[in-house]
Amino acid sequence: MNAVLEVRGLSKAFGGVHAVEDLGFDLRAGERLALIGPNGAGKSTSFQMLMGELRPDAGTACFEGVDLVGMEPREIWALGVGRTFQITSVFASMTVAENVQTALQARNGQSFDPFRRARALHRDEAISLLERVGMAEQADRPASVLAYGDVKRLEFAIALAGEPRLLLMDEPTAGMAPRERHALMDLVSGIVAERGISVLFTEHDMDVVFGHADRIMVLDRGRLIADGTPDAVRADAKVRSVYLGSGAETGHA
Ligand code: ADP
Ligand code: MG
Repeated sequence: MNAVLEVRGLSKAFGGVHAVEDLGFDLRAGERLALIGPNGAGKSTSFQMLMGELRPDAGTACFEGVDLVGMEPREIWALGVGRTFQITSVFASMTVAENVQTALQARNGQSFDPFRRARALHRDEAISLLERVGMAEQADRPASVLAYGDVKRLEFAIALAGEPRLLLMDEPTAGMAPRERHALMDLVSGIVAERGISVLFTEHDMDVVFGHADRIMVLDRGRLIADGTPDAVRADAKVRSVYLGSGAETGHA
């Protein structure tokens, strides 16, 4: 029993639409688990329930034994559950380094005040995080001038500043070109492996999913229809029919 996250019976309906129904799975330590499925399958609803943004109608989601259901996003973050790639998490008026310094301040329980500049505090630690994501040379540029792919890398550095043991990533590479997607996910994979971070992510580029997941779960109309290794999921007849129906590919094989 070394599951980092244990989800049982998680459900959410919007009016008559069962967005997520009876979702259950274990995420093991160090695992990169992908949650995929066609548009409207319930992926974002699942992430929002785990992040504390949406209250489930039923179910539990235990992180290291603590049920996250009913907690505020901040409380979930403070437990060690990170999330990445929310554009709004970057303060455009600050420099790249100040953004990371602010996140390091928050981790240390210092007041999180975007209007109070953190010029000196945690500067060295911020620079070393930025080095790890390949952004050190941009440390003193305003975040507002960054290219899109660099914003994503900065957001990843900000997530890492919280020292998460679990990372939740809903379409981390949305809006990126295929080559950039692979580069970002290579970076993510390398860093989570060296830090022992477990990951739950979704992504609509099947090449990226099959290249970066240890295990894949497939949602269709709110229900899990498959959960297994990339090879098993790729060969699954139900998964194939769902993706053929939606016109997408389950990757090269
Ligand atoms: P995915 O991320 O897999 O594309 P979503 O979780 O966003 O799917 O959506 C699942 C279903 O729930 C869809 O039918 C969607 O229209 C519906 N849904 C999602 N969010 C809301 C909401 N806030 N209000 C009403 N319906 C919603
Ligand atoms: Mg979505």
